[in-house]
Amino acid sequence: MNINAEGIVLRQRKIAGNRRMIVLFTKQYGKLSAGTSINERGRSKAALALRPFTYAEYDIFKGREAYNINSATVLCSYYSIGEDINRYMTAASFLEYLEKVLDEEMAMPALFNLSLDFLKSVSQTKGSAETLLYAFIVKSLRMLGVMPEMNCCVNCGKELEAINEPRSFSVSSGGIICEDCAQIERQGGSSLIYKPSFSIIDVFKYFESKPLATFEKVDLKPEDARTVRGILSNYTERYLDVNVLGITKGSEE
Ligand SMILES: [Zn+2]
Repeated sequence: MNINAEGIVLRQRKIAGNRRMIVLFTKQYGKLSAGTSINERGRSKAALALRPFTYAEYDIFKGREAYNINSATVLCSYYSIGEDINRYMTAASFLEYLEKVLDEEMAMPALFNLSLDFLKSVSQTKGSAETLLYAFIVKSLRMLGVMPEMNCCVNCGKELEAINEPRSFSVSSGGIICEDCAQIERQGGSSLIYKPSFSIIDVFKYFESKPLATFEKVDLKPEDARTVRGILSNYTERYLDVNVLGITKGSEE
């Protein structure tokens, strides 16, 4: 059976017989691994569609046990990502994140569309591509069913959004917590409690509610970026078993 899918390449490696195994994130079928004889270094149009940071349409044969990419056509190439080291590193982390959080053959069209937005924004960002990655990850958390609780204390249920009480973010509890609960957790030896100097609720809601393109021109203050990075590193490691941001353990306090 032949299937047709729009997708992006997450990863590829050489396999026997001068062939490659390509891991695709497709809009219609989710993540799937397919073999191919097309060589990405070749000059054919299909070869261009196997390069990194390319959105393409793939013509795939679905056999009983494996997939094979017969041909491919480029729909859009975000080649300028490869021309800047920051963009490139950020986009590489993004691909690694996607590969780890996606299940095989489970379609996630909203996350796919968000991924295309991400590639487009990274290819034309004027700010730090990192803010785009933070915003992408926060947006993806709800799609993946692991959005932290950001309205009331995740431990005792106290409403925290409206009042000006200082609040902390607890990675182990999975959201914001009030000061009483933060003290209890600290006494219990938890080291994954962050108490940002800015409103973490506002930052998360800002990331979640605005289109990704908004963050092409946004840079967080370096110390705020560090905190957001620490929270997202430890949070994704705990709930999605992936950490592409590189900070482990250790809170700001
Ligand atoms: Zn509480």
